Amino acid sequence: MEYCLTADFHTHTRYSHGKGTIEQNVLMALQKGLKKIAITDHGFNHFGFGMGISDIDRMRREIDGLRKKYRDIEILFGVEANLTSLDGDIDIPEEYINAFDIILMGFHKAVVPFSAKDGWQLFAKNMLYPILPLHDKERVRHDNTMAMVFAMERYPIHTITHPGAKIDIDTAILARNARKHNVFLEINSYHGFMTVDYVRTAMKQGACFVINSDAHRPEQVGEVSKGIMIAREAGLPPDRIANSKDFSQ
Ligand SMILES: [Zn+2]
Ligand SMILES: [Zn+2]
Repeated sequence: MEYCLTADFHTHTRYSHGKGTIEQNVLMALQKGLKKIAITDHGFNHFGFGMGISDIDRMRREIDGLRKKYRDIEILFGVEANLTSLDGDIDIPEEYINAFDIILMGFHKAVVPFSAKDGWQLFAKNMLYPILPLHDKERVRHDNTMAMVFAMERYPIHTITHPGAKIDIDTAILARNARKHNVFLEINSYHGFMTVDYVRTAMKQGACFVINSDAHRPEQVGEVSKGIMIAREAGLPPDRIANSKDFSQ
């Protein structure tokens, strides 16, 4: 199977915990021959290194400037939002949703919950997950999955990042709903998620995918060999991958 990827929709910069600047990521994307790059730093509630609301204007201005400077590549201003409650809340307040060109959403542990209830239900229970009895594990897995589904229903999410990493999820249910809401599931080259088995399960439900670098350093932008290996092993057709030149939906 031949994969030709033309975009990287998931890259970090110094605005969260990446090591490089927006411009360095853009330059690397150009060097790798990409036509599109998204700058997607962590959402506002990420503990210690989420981007600040005050960064929005600065980043937008910086990206506008780079768009004029580098005309061979499309630069998207995005965010990797955090899931923050079982009701599918994310850490981007309603009034800032339209500030972004692209919204990715994933589960991360190091997030400040909106309330003590969210802290217990979503974060503490997932932390305790390995030692929970089977019945409780099933409940947590169900709640996690539905939280992701509610978020897809409530927000214009482009991609669920690294599904299955850091949190147990029913991949088939997630994939069915992702398809329904035109949300892509990410094969993440940094974490090595989704795994081959997850991709196969999600494929059967008709989901579409995106293979991203999740670069935390400029030199990692466009570095998706691990993701391609997973896609190839799962037998994923290139026309089901949003950032492939063969994508057709
Ligand atoms: Zn992430
Ligand atoms: Zn990331």
